Amino acid sequence: MKSWVDIYIGLGSNLDQPLQHVEQAFQSLASHKHFQNAKLSGIYQSKPVGPQDQPDFINAVAHAQTQLGPHDVLDCLQSIENVHGRVRLRHWGERSLDLDLLMYGQAQIRTPRLTVPHSHMLQRSFVLYPLADLVPNLCFDNGLNLGEHLNKLEFDLKLLKKGI
Ligand code: AMP
Repeated sequence: MKSWVDIYIGLGSNLDQPLQHVEQAFQSLASHKHFQNAKLSGIYQSKPVGPQDQPDFINAVAHAQTQLGPHDVLDCLQSIENVHGRVRLRHWGERSLDLDLLMYGQAQIRTPRLTVPHSHMLQRSFVLYPLADLVPNLCFDNGLNLGEHLNKLEFDLKLLKKGI
């Protein structure tokens, strides 16, 4: 019997009713046959990191447990993106739905398709603050805990909805 692995997924959208995209994407994760115990962080509004002439983003982080391998999880996330008719206009630009595999248990993964933990996640307030809603005591491999990383990041988000 395979064991269940804790995974964390970053959700983001800034096109075509982004709040709905994020909430519906979470419902797709929560009802997916390969995921269990899904929880959603608060939902936040953030300023875009790339080009500034685009709408603010809606961001959240989801937790779930799975018995799938990490590349199969990525396949699931990409098919949910496709169901939402993912539109992406430019690099670091507008997108209707972005789902990132932030962490897969304690695994360190570097393949052509997958980097886990997700690159830059420790520098992104729109990832770490929602993550702290779900696992405030999380410890990273670099020896720092989530609180210590958050101390380095300004809270530059607006909380739109509490987690579920
Ligand atoms: P983006 O649209 O910027 O999220 O990039 C999507 C591409 O990033 C896909 O082709 C994935 O194969 C690749 N990728 C690498 N690591 C990850 C990850 N941890 N989560 C999601 N996509 C990833």
